Amino acid sequence: MDNYRNVYVIAEVTDEKKPTEHTLELVGLGKNLAKQTGGKLFALLLGSSLREAAEEISIFGADVTVVDNEKLADYNPLIYFSVVAKFLEKDSSFVVLAGHTSLGEDLLLRLAYSFEVGLVTDCIGIDVENSAGNLVFKRYVYGGNALATQKVRTNTAMSTLRARVGDVPTAAEQKGEVNLAEIEIEEDLAIRVREKEVSLKELNLEDAPVVVSGGRGMAGEEGFAKLEDLASFLNGVVGATRPPVDAGWISPTRQVGITGKIVAPEIYIAVAISGSSQHLSGMGESGTIIAINKDADAYIFKTANYGVVGKWQEVLPAFSDEVKRLLG
Ligand SMILES: Cc1cc2nc3c(=O)[nH]c(=O)nc-3n(C[C@H](O)[C@H](O)[C@H](O)COP(=O)(O)OP(=O)(O)OC[C@H]3O[C@@H](n4cnc5c(N)ncnc54)[C@H](O)[C@@H]3O)c2cc1C
Repeated sequence: MDNYRNVYVIAEVTDEKKPTEHTLELVGLGKNLAKQTGGKLFALLLGSSLREAAEEISIFGADVTVVDNEKLADYNPLIYFSVVAKFLEKDSSFVVLAGHTSLGEDLLLRLAYSFEVGLVTDCIGIDVENSAGNLVFKRYVYGGNALATQKVRTNTAMSTLRARVGDVPTAAEQKGEVNLAEIEIEEDLAIRVREKEVSLKELNLEDAPVVVSGGRGMAGEEGFAKLEDLASFLNGVVGATRPPVDAGWISPTRQVGITGKIVAPEIYIAVAISGSSQHLSGMGESGTIIAINKDADAYIFKTANYGVVGKWQEVLPAFSDEVKRLLG
């Protein structure tokens, strides 16, 4: 099997310059894949002040190449593309894995187009076919109603993967190398970040262990403030279906679903959400799903592990009080 060799993971860090859980999960998946393809596992880490993050990733056995430069502090599509492309150009046949995040999607689309290689996005798994050594990508299709397995025609492949489709690996017996790469970064490119609006909670939707989401039945911003209260008590983050986003009750960055964020927290609390396939495909892989809905026939109850039939105005206060009492 020499169709595929080295595996490259595009690493991402949090605002605190720590590798995201998603990145560590990709390292775990990449390690598995590299074992099967007989290649090496590399992680590419771009940004500024990332030496410690690189060390943390290397513990899991990946050789980490860090390009540490102030000009990489914010994601700039053209600069990131040109830096990553420089590394990949040195290799002839490889697999690139990135998170199915805004950065991962944007970067891999550019790279795949430029390298003329197959790209499969929003995957929930990758396997190696025993016979030919070809990769098989698993992803949901038709609004999350069917699971497809897909292949690419090119030897080299790229893929974005959802969070929580793999585990953070255990530390490797031998840690990987950390290499600081000196690359000249051109300044005069077309895209510049002029302003950055940061909200820690918004950024962490995919990583949060608990997501408390509201739907159209929340009936306004006031309803979402109640969800915020419960979410912050549980160290969670508030999410939403599309109608509250369209109505301007909550930021678009909180939308969960096929055209929003894909989440798989340990606990997903769905309040006044009917359970459309577009929403379910963004949270169906959650550990435990709890639904509150006034309609006993709401579709969400078919997916939920626990459900309460009732108006959220009555159920949520009692639910929140009980959770607070139990957790002290
Ligand atoms: C191309 C496309 C992409 C889409 N992408 C997404 C996406 O990414 N994410 C997404 O979520 N949607 C998406 N949608 C929209 C999707 O089809 C549904 O319309 C949407 O998910 C429904 O949201 P909802 O459950 O909040 O609203 P509704 O379906 O209107 O359900 C509201 C629910 O609230 C309950 N309710 C009302 N009042 C109360 C109360 N007081 N107490 C308790 N329960 C109450 C009702 O019983 C009902 O079940 C997309 C649609 C299209 C066409």
